[in-house]
Amino acid sequence: MREDTTKHQGRRRQLVDILKDKGINDKAVLKAIGDIPRHLFMDSSFEDHAYQDKAFPIGADQTISQPYTVAFQSQQLIVSPGTKVLEIGTGSGYQTAVLCHMGAEVYSIERQHELFRTSLKRLPALGFKAKKLIFGDGYKGFAEKAPFDRIIVTAGAPFIPEALLAQLSIGGKMVIPVGEKNQKMTVITRTSDADFEQLVLGDFRFVPLLGDKN
Ligand code: SAM
Repeated sequence: MREDTTKHQGRRRQLVDILKDKGINDKAVLKAIGDIPRHLFMDSSFEDHAYQDKAFPIGADQTISQPYTVAFQSQQLIVSPGTKVLEIGTGSGYQTAVLCHMGAEVYSIERQHELFRTSLKRLPALGFKAKKLIFGDGYKGFAEKAPFDRIIVTAGAPFIPEALLAQLSIGGKMVIPVGEKNQKMTVITRTSDADFEQLVLGDFRFVPLLGDKN
């Protein structure tokens, strides 16, 4: 049985300090990162590196995002208890856990069955209760539970999927990295039925949001 030791907790405190130095100041985000045992979302062979501010492989050619990226997206999302969030790209489940810790009602979609199955077991075992983990194609969103107050996309999207815009509530926000090789973190706010405002932030590098043909 893998544990969360004082050594891990100490490394997490150092990671939180690194994130603060990089400009993360949302208290709920920092608390989530300080509390959640990231090493338990990764293979044990990476355990000693889990609190470096780096992405690591999680199988199926995918990665757990760098903690700064998770913190940055979570901070941009502006979540409070009860916020209804759709996440595209469950991956390891770590970002899902951060959002659950912040009190969000999280629906999360993953297209790799192996990763979906692992998160389905891992998240409840670690005490995180997502509203629903879905095996499917995130390009389509999750229409049956729309609209969502927030949508977070954790893979690089070559374009902004129409279905996701349609599933955003009025006043809702989507945080999505847009681009092929490198991505611009983009925050979209739905201001009316037909209107959206777009704010383009810094450069990031994600694994791609894959569609039916990849
Ligand atoms: N949030 C994840 C975490 O904390 O581990 C980050 C995971 S990784 C950077 C991106 C994830 O998006 C991968 O698990 C990948 O399989 C998934 N993905 C890619 N295209 C997808 C799609 N069309 N629908 C759902 N998930 C997708």
